[in-house]
Amino acid sequence: MKQGMRLGVASRLLAMITLVILTIGITSISPAQDVQAKGTQAQTPSTVLFQNVRIFDGTGNALSPPSNVLVRGNNIEKISTAPIPVDRGANTQIIEGGGRTLMPGLIDAHWHAMLIRPNPAQAIAGDIGYNNIAAGAEATDTLMRGFTTVRDVGGPAFGLKQAIDEGIVPGPRIFPSGAVITVTSGHGDFRQLSELPRVIGGPLSRMEQIGSSMLADSPDEVRVRVREQLMQGASQIKLTAGGGVSSPFSPIDASTFTEAELRAAVEAAENWGTYVTVHAFTPAAIQRAIVAGVKCIEHGFLMDEATAKLIANKGVWLSLQPLPEELRQGFPVGSVQRAKADEVWPGIARTYELAKKYKIKTAWGTDVLFSQALAQRQGAILASLARWYSPAEALAMATGTNAELLALSGKRNPYPGKLGVVQEGALADLLLVDGDPTANINLVADPIKSFVVIMKDGKVYKNILSR
Ligand SMILES: [Zn+2]
Repeated sequence: MKQGMRLGVASRLLAMITLVILTIGITSISPAQDVQAKGTQAQTPSTVLFQNVRIFDGTGNALSPPSNVLVRGNNIEKISTAPIPVDRGANTQIIEGGGRTLMPGLIDAHWHAMLIRPNPAQAIAGDIGYNNIAAGAEATDTLMRGFTTVRDVGGPAFGLKQAIDEGIVPGPRIFPSGAVITVTSGHGDFRQLSELPRVIGGPLSRMEQIGSSMLADSPDEVRVRVREQLMQGASQIKLTAGGGVSSPFSPIDASTFTEAELRAAVEAAENWGTYVTVHAFTPAAIQRAIVAGVKCIEHGFLMDEATAKLIANKGVWLSLQPLPEELRQGFPVGSVQRAKADEVWPGIARTYELAKKYKIKTAWGTDVLFSQALAQRQGAILASLARWYSPAEALAMATGTNAELLALSGKRNPYPGKLGVVQEGALADLLLVDGDPTANINLVADPIKSFVVIMKDGKVYKNILSR
């Protein structure tokens, strides 16, 4: 009897523990699973038919003859020059294109969704709730500029991404890197000298607590920090392999991570099926990163011919930004940052020439930081590629080509499906442009007027034709 009671208590305890474990299991459901769960509850997918549009397909081909494009749910189901019959039910929307251009949503391959509206001090020391709400408002503006996807190369954007994916706030798809991983004194180390020395294993600095930048000074520390970003949903990993303009204590000429540290990051990322991209300007920093297995170089503005050849031969991606002159002038004359900007800026044009000369796989991005005004010129920065490329080449870079870079995330791609193209079976991120952007690239610089319909994931976020 006594034995039986004890057994009863034990089994009830066991049942409780099991329940707790199960509950923890359920509540720790990942954001991605949660969104999928909601997706399966959706009713009949809505249907949108674009009639009489000329298609820029995202690959640089000439515009199609007048065509019809059927979107069902979040997919482009059918493209045809012949009429496409649809049930004209309540769930079907017909958009009369009137011969306008239908093109893929734009992709910015170098964006920092959390670092547009705040100034540097607010971004790190400001209230987290405020910073997230400001980033949400900016994300909506980003989508309304026609940017349906961004590759976020540093910043605590996981919560913002989740809120966008759940439909809480309109915004682009985000391929997040999470925190920038940097060495002590490297680009991304925004601490004050008064915060030195760091105690290994001691309390984290503010920028680390909020997940903006993480310090790592050994291969082991790099592995921890990389895996933490992956655990939070990073689709790729960003390290700074050399000095940067905006950081107070990182000389431009400095190479930061050792080859062993870079290799540790690459191994950890590749074990998760994804890749490492690095911020690097100089030949030394770029070459070391490539030897370590890095798949993408951000900026590269101080590279030489030999480095350009190496990038081309290894099939490494070069993520370039035609940084506007205003950005350089924004750094106060006489400041360390201005001196560094003056060193880097002349390299921008030279690097574009090298990228073309050696046919390097080139992605396009803006790298807007700490300026809402500059962010409003996101499309204008794309249009400024006309210095080196035809309009169709520039548009293909910001759509189909950028999407190829995004696909390097493999199974860590948060949005499986084809992006950046108008093709049957691709995800329905589409812009209807009032005019022909392959004839006049400046149309993308004026999204309020030019983009008459903006669709992301099959949902219409803007349609000024139906008014
Ligand atoms: Zn950047």
